[in-house]
Amino acid sequence: MSNTTAGGPGRIAGDGSVVARAPAKVNVHLGVGPLRDDGFHELQTVFLAVSLFDTVTVRRSTGLSLEVRGEGTADGAGPAGVPSDSRNLVWQAAELLARHAGVAADAHLVVDKSIPAAAGLAGGSADAAATLVALDALWGTRATRGDLAALAAQLGSDVPFSLLGGVALGTGRGERLSPVLARRRWDWVLGIAGEGLSTPTVYGELDALRAAGELPDGAVAASTEPVLAALRSGPVSALAAALSNDLQAPAVRLRPELRRALRAATELGAAAALVSGSGPTVAALAEDEDGAARLATELAGAGAFRAVRAVHGPVPGARLVG
Ligand code: ATP
Repeated sequence: MSNTTAGGPGRIAGDGSVVARAPAKVNVHLGVGPLRDDGFHELQTVFLAVSLFDTVTVRRSTGLSLEVRGEGTADGAGPAGVPSDSRNLVWQAAELLARHAGVAADAHLVVDKSIPAAAGLAGGSADAAATLVALDALWGTRATRGDLAALAAQLGSDVPFSLLGGVALGTGRGERLSPVLARRRWDWVLGIAGEGLSTPTVYGELDALRAAGELPDGAVAASTEPVLAALRSGPVSALAAALSNDLQAPAVRLRPELRRALRAATELGAAAALVSGSGPTVAALAEDEDGAARLATELAGAGAFRAVRAVHGPVPGARLVG
């Protein structure tokens, strides 16, 4: 982790605003171990940051206020299911950074969402990471990337990766990260469902299926080595063969239509398709950029998803824009 300051006060625009963006993620490997005493599962996961970004704009104000716009917006209201008060992760990020830096939590925050909520793409985590970076610059807290990473881990399991970006191996709850070398670009199509899935519900279903003996108990985790080797050197067929997600079976059990959506992706030309994180987004791996564009058109025509997005990764984590 670098010791340089993350943003610095030099990035404030003429109108007093600071803008940061952070990417969505796909888990190309998600191994879920047994339930721990603290209620979390021990994970072994490989994150890939992909080119679908939420943007957070902050400016000085008195006290905290928040506006949420964009993806999922119904009739101009905030995106369905995304709170615009202290329950929002960006609000908690602002309060945490202010406490850490010993400054007043004075800011107006605007979140522009392109990452759908409750989709297994870590949208809330991306927003929190972008908020830390933007407010560090606005408030001139001069936090290091290491400081921000420690705050990120307090906010949620996926927030440290949203800050780091690229490709990383995550252990613990997913918050302990080791960057992974990935020499090439990977093209994907994200198939986005009409309705989200709650992450705790999907973990609960996994526990129930394991308790009933319908799934292995998770004590023996699959190795991350095949997926790491594939990421290092390609080809697409190697990564396709190495993709795995222990949350896919419970997500499909809760959303049986996901089975058809996964099949549609491979029938229409994806090298492989898997559920992203806790779902219900389907991540379909394409041969290259042209292949992803073709697959996106085919999948949009097939009607298995509310929306499709061609994306690529790895991309950097939360960064100032402009
Ligand atoms: P993950 O992949 O990290 O498990 P997810 O992508 O499935 O998460 P999120 O989009 O991060 O899910 O949101 C999960 C829930 O968190 C939402 O249903 C919402 O109630 C709450 N939430 C809080 N802050 C935000 C935010 N900024 N954006 C989206 N959801 C938020």
